[in-house]
Amino acid sequence: MTGIPQKPVTDPREKHTLIINRSDSKCGNCNRGAATDQQMHDRELGYGVVGIGKPCGVEFKYVSTSYYGLEERVKSMRPDLEFIDLYGVVRG
Ligand SMILES: [Zn+2]
Repeated sequence: MTGIPQKPVTDPREKHTLIINRSDSKCGNCNRGAATDQQMHDRELGYGVVGIGKPCGVEFKYVSTSYYGLEERVKSMRPDLEFIDLYGVVRG
């Protein structure tokens, strides 16, 4: 799939990160879908694998994206969370 860098993620903050992409958003801890307005992962969003197990309940402290060019949009969606460049997609 284009637009998704293959850089491996080793940042320990990942498990508290809400990852917002173009057409989906997910939890950095359990990798299940997560609504973009969640403070903690207590609901699973209907993308990808749904209905198997439960969302992990982790508290979101950071927000990130794995797409180039989405940084500003993601920041504006969640100004309450600290943006981190988990996937190395922010240029400059
Ligand atoms: Zn989760």
